[in-house]
Amino acid sequence: MSASKQPLHKTSAGLVVIPIAVSCVLTGALSAALVLTGRWETALKAPLMIVAVLIYALVLFILGRSGIENVRGLERRASIDTLTRLPNRHTLGEDIERISQGDEELALAIIDLDGFKQLNDHYGHAMGDRLIARFAQELRSVCGREARCYRLGGDEFAALANGKVAGTILEGLCRTLLERLGTPLALDGRHFAMGASIGLTRSLPEDRAPASELLRRADVAMDMSKRGGKMRCTWFNESFDRRRERVREIEDEIRAGIAAGEFALAYQPLVDAETKQIVAVEALLRWNRGSERDALGPNVFVPIAEDSGLINPLGLWVLRQAACDARRWDDITLSVNISAAQLRNAEFPIRLGEVLEETGFPPSRLELEVTETCLVLDPVVAERTLDVIRSFGVRIALDDFGTGYASIGFLRRFRFEKLKLDRSLVELAGVDDGSRAMMLSSIALARALDMGVTAEGVETEEQAELVRLAGCDQIQGWLYYRALPAEDIDRLIAAQTALLAGGKEAAA
Ligand code: C2E
Ligand code: MG
Ligand code: MG
Repeated sequence: MSASKQPLHKTSAGLVVIPIAVSCVLTGALSAALVLTGRWETALKAPLMIVAVLIYALVLFILGRSGIENVRGLERRASIDTLTRLPNRHTLGEDIERISQGDEELALAIIDLDGFKQLNDHYGHAMGDRLIARFAQELRSVCGREARCYRLGGDEFAALANGKVAGTILEGLCRTLLERLGTPLALDGRHFAMGASIGLTRSLPEDRAPASELLRRADVAMDMSKRGGKMRCTWFNESFDRRRERVREIEDEIRAGIAAGEFALAYQPLVDAETKQIVAVEALLRWNRGSERDALGPNVFVPIAEDSGLINPLGLWVLRQAACDARRWDDITLSVNISAAQLRNAEFPIRLGEVLEETGFPPSRLELEVTETCLVLDPVVAERTLDVIRSFGVRIALDDFGTGYASIGFLRRFRFEKLKLDRSLVELAGVDDGSRAMMLSSIALARALDMGVTAEGVETEEQAELVRLAGCDQIQGWLYYRALPAEDIDRLIAAQTALLAGGKEAAA
C-alpha cells in the first residue's frame, strides 16, 4: 500500500503515541539534567511531574482512541454504502485492481434494476430505499461465498468473483438471481415485482484490463440486456463497441441529413372498417440516403435519434411538415408519432402550439400516437404533458397495443381517445385462440372506456373480417394502402371526394 493510501487511523495512532513518547523522554531528560546540575529539590519534584505527564498522556490516549474510532467509522462509511451495508463503487475498483495483480480469472457483473424509477414514483422514496435494501439482501443471499456484492449507486449493483471458472460461476449466480426475481419480492406482507438487466465481463491473467475498462465493458453489456428486452444476462462482446461506433456515425449522419433536407414523409391511409373509405392518414418518416449509402428504416434511425435527443428537432419538423401537407385533405384526421423523449421535453407542448398556430392546422384533426414505453418511463410528467396537449383539442392514441404490458389501470389513467392494436396481435389472432381472446377482450375494454380502436398491419381479407367483426372501427394495413407520398394522397382523396359527391348526386 502506498504512503498516500495509509489508513487514516494509523496516522492518528501516530499522533497519540508520538506526543506521549516525546513527553516521557523530555521528563526523563529534565530530571536527569536537574540531578546533574545539583538542583536536587527540583529534581525530587520530578515524580510529580511524571504523574502529571502520565495523566496528560492518559487523557490524550482516551481522546485519541475516540478519534481513531471516528476516523475508522469515516473510513468504513467511505467504502460501504450506508443503505445496504454493501461495499461501494470505490471498494469495487480497489478489489478489481487487487485481484488483477494475481493470476486468477476475474469476472464482473453489473446488475441494474428494471423500471425502478416507476416503483420509486409509485410508492415514494422511503419505500424505494427499503426495496433497494431488500434487493441487496436477495443479491447477497444468491452470491453467498462465491461472489462479493457491491452497490454502485441508485439502482445499480455489481458482483465480483475470482478463481478458476469465475465467469461460469458468476453467470450461474446471475441466472439464479433472475430466476428468483421471477417471483415478486416480499416486503411488509406486500409483493413487489422487480426485474434486473445484467452485463458480464471477465478478465484473464494473460489479458488484463484496468478496473475502469472492465466496468465500462460490463456496463455496455448491461445496456445490451436492457435493449434486448430486460431480465437477462449478456456477456460483453467486442462487436458491441463496433455497433456503438456505427450508432455514433448514424447520429452524425442524421444531424447532417436534417440540415441537408434528406428526410421526407410518407402517409399511410386508415380506412373505416365498414365503408373502407379513407378517414385518417398516419405520417411515417422516411430517410432518402441516396443509392450509395445503405437504406435505413425508421425502426433503425428513430431509436438512434431518440437516444441522442435529435428526435426533438426531427420530430418537430415531422409535425410542421405533416400539418402543412394535411391542411389540404379536408376532414381527414392526421396521425403523427411522438417519441418518449419528445413527450418528456417540457418545451414540446409549447412547440406544438406554435406549429398549430403557424400552419393553421385545426387541432381537432390532429391525433398524436404515443407508445406505452413513452408513458411508463415517467407517467407523472407524461400525464401533465398529455393534459396540456388535450387542452388544445388534440387527441391521443396509444400505438402498438399488445406488445407491452399496458394494464387496465394504465388505460383508465391515461384515457386515450384511440387504441391501435399492434400488427403482431392482429396476425396471431388469426391463428391462435389465446391471442384472439386477448384481442377481443382488449377491444371490449377499449369500447367500455369509450376509446376508438384501429387494427394495424392488416394484410389479408381474413384479418380484415376478423377485426371488423371484433369491433374495430378503423383498419390500417397493406391490404388497403401502403405508406404513400403526399401527392398520391392528394389524388386518392380527390378521387374519394368525387366518388362521394357522385354518390350523393345519384341518391338525390
Ligand atoms: P408505427 O407507428 O406502428 O407505424 C406502423 C408501421 O407499420 C409502419 O412502419 C408501417 O409502414 C407498417 N405497416 C403498416 N401496415 C403494414 C402491414 O400491413 N404490414 C406490415 N408488415 N407493416 C405494415 P414504418 O414506416 O417502417 O415505421 C416503423 C415505426 O417507426 C413506426 O411504427 C413508428 O413507431 C416509428 N416512426 C415512423 N415515423 C415516425 C416519426 O415520425 N416519429 C416517430 N417518433 N416515430 C416514427
Ligand atoms: Mg404509429
Ligand atoms: Mg403501431
